[in-house]
Amino acid sequence: SLDYLCEDTIAAISTPIGKGAIGIVRISGKDALTILRRLFRTKGGKEKLEFEDRKMYYGLVVDRFGEPIDEVLAVYMKAPKTFTGEDVVELHVHGGIVVVRKVLREVLACGARLAKPGEFTMRAFIHGKIDLVQAEAINQLIEATSELSAKVALEQLEGKLSKRIKELQTRLLELKAVIEAAVDFPDEEVEIIESHRIKEHLRGLIDELEKLIQTYREGRYIREGIKVAIVGRPNVGKSSLLNAILQEERAIVTEIPGTTRDVIEETVTFKGLPVRLLDTAGIRESADVVERIGIEKSLKSLKEADVVLFVLDGSEGLTEEDLKIASLLNRKDNVIAVINKADLALKLTCEQLKETLGVGRCVIISAKEGKGIDELASAMMELLLLEPESLLGGDEVLITSERHRELLERAKTSLEKALNSLNLGYESPEFLSMDIDDALKALGEIVGEVTTEDMFDIIFSRFCIGK
Ligand code: GDP
Ligand code: ZN
Repeated sequence: SLDYLCEDTIAAISTPIGKGAIGIVRISGKDALTILRRLFRTKGGKEKLEFEDRKMYYGLVVDRFGEPIDEVLAVYMKAPKTFTGEDVVELHVHGGIVVVRKVLREVLACGARLAKPGEFTMRAFIHGKIDLVQAEAINQLIEATSELSAKVALEQLEGKLSKRIKELQTRLLELKAVIEAAVDFPDEEVEIIESHRIKEHLRGLIDELEKLIQTYREGRYIREGIKVAIVGRPNVGKSSLLNAILQEERAIVTEIPGTTRDVIEETVTFKGLPVRLLDTAGIRESADVVERIGIEKSLKSLKEADVVLFVLDGSEGLTEEDLKIASLLNRKDNVIAVINKADLALKLTCEQLKETLGVGRCVIISAKEGKGIDELASAMMELLLLEPESLLGGDEVLITSERHRELLERAKTSLEKALNSLNLGYESPEFLSMDIDDALKALGEIVGEVTTEDMFDIIFSRFCIGK
């Protein structure tokens, strides 16, 4: 049991740090109620010992010397029907980071320990409130930068993926039973029929696992956004294209300053696709993105990009500089040539570009008039092998985590091993059983039935404190 990880009482500020209408200090553990009694006073300044489960009390928080810190709404939630499965207290105080911190300090002075990142969620997992997939989904939900990634995270939180894993586990257990029963039939004929059945089961399961693994590509795009780089020489219309894309969907979800001052990423929804535009600062502020952010950085963003939009000025035809940029594109399969300024007389054709630049895809647009933007979105989906319908809310279960993908691969490999030895005629049921057990173990790790401590550290250290 992992209960030893939950012996002390933890506390943290559970709302964003900064000015806000309210700030919440959350306490979880066996001393939560004691701490509440120590800190809480009624409006009239009296101590209060009895708190009903899940009832809001209005009053004051006082420090060790009985001095009021702030007015609060306090709620006590009795174990085990709480998020963490432990006694939980929440103090809702009047925003203002100084006050919230002061309240937290008093809570810690009363014996609570500052929670580690994700520790509340970890306790919820340890007490069986949620499985590991759901715990991870909570973090994904917090970090979601698009509606779509939030939706997928929420589905996982609601147990969609966990349910699918359970189904696979059940089928594996059934298969194991069939194999073990086969030991009891030494009869040759029966054995042949059985081995046939087992192979079929195995193939079916391998297929299912593979399908699930395949969803990771799409899942990753949804979770992280599709990384798009816009390149081209000065004045071809990169900024204009960027603006056309941004105007399509005004909802700029995040604006993340990158690791350096020059690189800014913007996440937008472009025709339902969560898109991360790389190096938009460079494109916006300078005429020549290659010069300004330096060859090295552009190469880096080119290397990282899932899609490269190579913009050309259709009214001017191909220039030396275009060719120079083309030579920087180390791979061509993720490049879409974008012939811009279609509202003017064009001196470039897609055929010409496919031939001279070796790009597979080409779209003609007018960034100025907003024409061809739909076609550009379709070309991107085609390139990424994405189905717009499935992206926009199919019923499919999606894998969005590398950890899950690896474990599914491991399960699949074990089953392939079993199938191989069956095909080769080594039919020792004991060995088959062992392979099935390996697959079961891998699936168990996904939902957290099988846990190791370092796995814990890795998963929960990604959370923010207070979750
Ligand atoms: P960048 O240097 O590649 O970012 O190019 P800009 O977006 O700054 O555009 C350079 C010039 O081309 C500006 O004067 C734009 O108004 C013009 N331009 C951009 N797109 C179009 C277009 O589709 N049609 C026409 N006619 N002009 C455009
Ligand atoms: Zn520009």
